[in-house]
Amino acid sequence: EAKAQGGGSIRFFNPAMQEAIIRRMLVESALRKAVQHQELEVYLQPQVNTQNEVVAGELLLRWTDPDLGSISPAEFIPIAEASGLIIPIGTWVIEQACRTLRDWQHIDALKNIPLAVNISPRQFRHGGFVAQVEHCLHEAGMPRGLLELEITEGMLIDNIEVTVKRMCKLGDLGVRFSLDDFGTGYASLAYLKKLPLQQLKIDQSFVRDMLADANDEIIIKTIIGLGENLNFSVIAEGVETEKQLAHLKALGCKKFQGYLFGQPAPIAEWQQRFTQNLKLVSES
Ligand code: C2E
Ligand code: MG
Ligand code: MG
Ligand code: MG
Repeated sequence: EAKAQGGGSIRFFNPAMQEAIIRRMLVESALRKAVQHQELEVYLQPQVNTQNEVVAGELLLRWTDPDLGSISPAEFIPIAEASGLIIPIGTWVIEQACRTLRDWQHIDALKNIPLAVNISPRQFRHGGFVAQVEHCLHEAGMPRGLLELEITEGMLIDNIEVTVKRMCKLGDLGVRFSLDDFGTGYASLAYLKKLPLQQLKIDQSFVRDMLADANDEIIIKTIIGLGENLNFSVIAEGVETEKQLAHLKALGCKKFQGYLFGQPAPIAEWQQRFTQNLKLVSES
């Protein structure tokens, strides 16, 4: 269709589109190599309570290609998802989480700190997913409730029956669920209480604009109220300033994540800081 009748030249694509397509192809083949050579890294970002104490952490992928430089998850995760590479990548991240949780069982200060892993829709839909998580948990042999999976509203829409079944199976294994980027998708409120879900994560766009836009504040208030009524914990992500923090606290939010408390950094780095002091003092 887009290919011309003759000569193999591409028509109907403008230069910008061509460039984007070429970039995608480059990134995909570099990502394939990165997976083979284990060049991806996971970083950790802490989550804190109202006392600035670390109560959990989220693992976030990082990737620097020798030729292309640092590439953000916002660019490579969709490519990993489309190409199927998300399956080995996602497995690896879960393994990293379980390995870390297992190590932390020997460190008194850290043994009750859960770790959250982002799960993409294709990964969650993959037939072997539940068995694979079960395998990782078993290998790590750690207590229940420490592995948390962050899923998004989009995943709840298509094939809700299968999703719920799968979530329940994982829930039986002691896995906890957090609904990421909450408020940006189309999750039906009726489903929320049917799901074995423990936490709603207020999307960072609402936090960013909360002080300027009354609608965003109302949305945050609504999510916090929803959490209270349906018994979900609520965490705000993307908290960057003391002002935002104070405002979120005033609205009743009790958990926070964002640059104010720390950037994502290598697990070993955070582990060292955590063992010294689990309290992250945001004021200098
Ligand atoms: P997310 O799960 O919603 O993660 C939050 C993003 O916000 C992260 O971006 C984090 O670095 C960033 N962030 C944290 N605090 C602040 C803040 O105070 N201000 C601002 N502006 N941003 C903040 P990152 O690491 O670039 O990841 C982007 C997205 O890529 C993630 O969004 C997640 O959807 C996806 N992702 C990252 N790692 C993985 C992974 O291992 N598997 C899958 N499937 N997706 C991942
Ligand atoms: Mg997340
Ligand atoms: Mg998010
Ligand atoms: Mg996101």
